[in-house]
Amino acid sequence: GGMISVASLTKRYREVAAVEDVSFRCEPGTVTGFLGPNGAGKSTTMRMICGLTPPTSGSATVQGVPYRRISNPGRHVGVLLDAAAQHSGRTGRETLVLTAQVLGVDTARVGAMLDRVGLPPKAAKRRVGAYSLGMRQRLGIAQALLGDPTVLILDEPANGLDPEGIHWMRSMLRDFADRGGTVLLSSHLLLEVEAVADRFVVIAGGRIAAQGTKGELLTKP
Ligand code: ADP
Ligand code: ADP
Repeated sequence: GGMISVASLTKRYREVAAVEDVSFRCEPGTVTGFLGPNGAGKSTTMRMICGLTPPTSGSATVQGVPYRRISNPGRHVGVLLDAAAQHSGRTGRETLVLTAQVLGVDTARVGAMLDRVGLPPKAAKRRVGAYSLGMRQRLGIAQALLGDPTVLILDEPANGLDPEGIHWMRSMLRDFADRGGTVLLSSHLLLEVEAVADRFVVIAGGRIAAQGTKGELLTKP
């Protein structure tokens, strides 16, 4: 069960165990805050969930199947793994039009989506290379939302966002989950996810340090 299900997921590189025996589930209608310091294994876990990094052992499924077996995955699962990696030569609008074409979504929806994430026409006409990290995050969130998914997997989306942007993202994610969506949201800052997450999965040194609601985490020994 679980819209996202991670079971004994392990990734070992030559010298490091990036992720070691990690298990958790994310349920519909909830935001799961995936918390841990830099280098804890959050990105590696998320990349394994999205089929971009093969696990050494263990498994991950989204909507009951490995991500790579979902047809047109972007229509079910919105993913933002590395906002800084967007192609810098295209404008924001061109980037999102391309995403729409890949997803098979009407490109007429691009303008409204750019507006929704706070990239007005003037910003959308600029090259991504001239964007701040916060603007790249907004564009990445637009890409993730464009396919009207039911699951969102976002790696450090608050990085580079200003306080207004973080506030906007929180209400967007809350609304998404309240409509039945499933969200996995990573951060190295408790403050960024505290207000929006229903549950927390805390990872450190590649291992799960704790998981549960805030109340459970505060009362568990
Ligand atoms: P986080 O996202 O929490 O910052 P990462 O998942 O990026 O953590 O990294 C976890 C650990 O795995 C770190 O020690 C990182 O240097 C290491 N790591 C990540 N990717 C690789 C790789 N391709 N080769 C070797 N080590 C890696
Ligand atoms: P993030 O924290 O966003 O994952 P990183 O800087 O950890 O960013 O990783 C960026 C890229 O470098 C990823 O493809 C990751 O797999 C790779 N990487 C990270 N750490 C190492 C490492 N110690 N050795 C080799 N590749 C690494």
